[in-house]
Amino acid sequence: MQYETVIGLEVHVQLDTRSKMFCGCPADYQDAEPNTRTCPVCLGLPGALPVINRRAVEYTMMTGLALHCSIPDFTKFDRKNYPYPDLMKGYQISQYDLPLALDGYLEIDGDPGIGHDRRRIGVERVHLEEDVAKMQHFPDGDGGEGYSLVDVNRSGVPLMEVVSKPDLRSPEEARQYLTSLHSLVQYLGVSTANMQDGNFRCDANVSIRPMGSDTFGTRTEVKNMNSFRSVFQALEYEVERQRRVIEDGGQVVQETRGWVDDREVTVSQRSKEYAHDYRYFPEPDLPPLNIGRDWVAQLQTALPELAPQRKARFMADYGLSDYDADLLTGSRAMADYFESALSELNPDASPDAAKEVANWILGDLSRLLNQDHRDIATSPVTPAGLSDLLSLISDGTLSTSLAKTVLEEMYATGGNAADVVEEKGLAQISDTGAIETAVAEAIAANPKAVADYLDGKENAARFLMGQVMRITKGQAQPELALRLVQEGLEAQKG
Ligand code: ADP
Ligand code: MG
Ligand code: ZN
Repeated sequence: MQYETVIGLEVHVQLDTRSKMFCGCPADYQDAEPNTRTCPVCLGLPGALPVINRRAVEYTMMTGLALHCSIPDFTKFDRKNYPYPDLMKGYQISQYDLPLALDGYLEIDGDPGIGHDRRRIGVERVHLEEDVAKMQHFPDGDGGEGYSLVDVNRSGVPLMEVVSKPDLRSPEEARQYLTSLHSLVQYLGVSTANMQDGNFRCDANVSIRPMGSDTFGTRTEVKNMNSFRSVFQALEYEVERQRRVIEDGGQVVQETRGWVDDREVTVSQRSKEYAHDYRYFPEPDLPPLNIGRDWVAQLQTALPELAPQRKARFMADYGLSDYDADLLTGSRAMADYFESALSELNPDASPDAAKEVANWILGDLSRLLNQDHRDIATSPVTPAGLSDLLSLISDGTLSTSLAKTVLEEMYATGGNAADVVEEKGLAQISDTGAIETAVAEAIAANPKAVADYLDGKENAARFLMGQVMRITKGQAQPELALRLVQEGLEAQKG
């Protein structure tokens, strides 16, 4: 029997606002001492009243608009009730039946492995809620229960949830959807979307059905994945597990399962029998929102260019390959860096300037950044610094290989290109006299190579040029060095 996979994703995105969702506490809890960013509202103290964060509402609408959703005129917040120690009030303020954005789509490449081309994945809704406190469990080594500590800093941080329709048809398509959504929120600037820090988290709903069937199978919901890779692995595992259950004559149970990263399996956490009754009701402490059409239009006009458009523009305007444009627009920071470096260059410096800037960013600079696990946004070599370096290549001060050395020095010290060249004496030598001295030295020290050349082995000239480069510490201008070596050798003939 052939099966078709059906996947729908629920993605939680922490919004990058200054203050929390319903109080004035700073929302950047990440580096703060535990329980230092709290107030009566986010601690859930009786009588404390919430106030809606306007920026968070805007960020959610912007995301909805970028996902081609409609923004309803009227929206409200609701209480979702459940008891858990990370939930300070005993309820979470969320949105139930009237979310901020509805019924859109996200375009993905499609999984060629199942014959799919570029396709649209439906987005059911985008709504706004608040994050909960962070719990950390400390097990007791002697088999006792241990204890847990609660850090309330994260409580009340704005959390946006994007719910897809069950339109994804393979783990690969789920990965594509996540990557695109991740890029979208980063380009919009609404979230740092750092998966390791838990700013971008995903629950995956998955079921399988006989190929050709038009009803859905029973789904399981998988939680606890903290990287794109683990989402992919968890889905592959779960599809295979469900297939085995069905082929063994059993039935898939609707349940929540947790991904266990080090064992690479999903395990049952909670079955539907224990499903919560959240007793949703409208939040009485907050006013409902009438969303003015002019507000929506304003946000729509102000939407920034997103990755797919930017990639297309890079190819059309700068003549970059699909591959390079794809890598450069992989993050907004990298795309910004590229355009900023390019704009600093003299426009008639070189017709291939864009390609050169791209090569330096994707090659040597990325290598240095990756070594340090450093983001390009915090690169010690600024876009202006890189373009200064490239100008020194085009005016003949530096050869490409000297420039690589200079870049490493700039990266290590934060110095600018001209100063590094000056301090380290790295400028290219194009003074004929100085190179001729090195050529004479190389010829005198390598009689075998000279004899080879006179025997007709022209490669020997290349070898001698290499010696000249070595003697000049790589600083001889390469073409000039080769010409002078050849002249020197020809002179030996007579
Ligand atoms: P809940 O409120 O229990 O989370 P929803 O109806 O909101 O349920 O659906 C949550 C997610 O599950 C959505 O992303 C949806 O696309 C997905 N989903 C629903 N049915 C299925 C199914 N049969 N197989 C896979 N995913 C599904
Ligand atoms: Mg769910
Ligand atoms: Zn607070």
